[in-house]
Amino acid sequence: MRRKIAAGNWKMFGTVADLSQIAAIATGADKAVDTLICPPATLIAAAAPHAAASFAIGGQDCHPLQSGAYTGEISALMLRDAGATHVIVGHSERRRDHAETNDLVRAKAGAALEAGLTAVICVGESLEQREAGITLDAITAELEASLPEGCVGGNTIVAYEPLWAVGTGLIPTPQQIAEVHGRIRAILRARFGHEAEMIRILYGGSVKASNAAEIFAAADVDGALVGGASLKAADFLPIIAALA
Ligand code: 13P
Repeated sequence: MRRKIAAGNWKMFGTVADLSQIAAIATGADKAVDTLICPPATLIAAAAPHAAASFAIGGQDCHPLQSGAYTGEISALMLRDAGATHVIVGHSERRRDHAETNDLVRAKAGAALEAGLTAVICVGESLEQREAGITLDAITAELEASLPEGCVGGNTIVAYEPLWAVGTGLIPTPQQIAEVHGRIRAILRARFGHEAEMIRILYGGSVKASNAAEIFAAADVDGALVGGASLKAADFLPIIAALA
């Protein structure tokens, strides 16, 4: 039995004033669901005291090494030290804006596991790949190359975020989501055997309270990775509730 998880990726939004939203989400979230908020790194230490059995704080990225002369970078160990238990790696905005390759994403995920964090590994097809009918091949290649060794249910989450659905208001059909999640499950099984059954697979891209129930009804959807609609408790709490 996999517990459902609602994850919020705050991206480059949020200042100290928004800690009140994190407090409201921590308090109001249905405890039958796991909730994760990944605020900007500047807020992790202040948000971490809200962490509880079903509420966690995570980072949005980490370096593949744990320390070194890398100005501006943050390591997985540092995230953990600040109170994070999770970290997103391979988000499409990092892959796009920072030219992150699968090899780098795999190294970052490995560093996360080494530091004792749960890695939220993101994959997703472009609109061109979707229109060319090669979505499953694209997801397979990207995921296989982005997975580190040693993934188990307790340290790995996979997020399927079609690039064309991130921040656009467009979402795949439940059938399209189920098809990709089924392929991701098969890849995890082939690689990690029975442990794959415990790895949660999230859908991400334009999830809102109004479409959450339809998305969560799709087969093999263990939750959501939510951007814009996770910034305010009033928007995120109904999405969390839809998973309960
Ligand atoms: P939106 O929910 O704003 O489309 O963002 C999705 C996302 O990228 C979450 O990581």
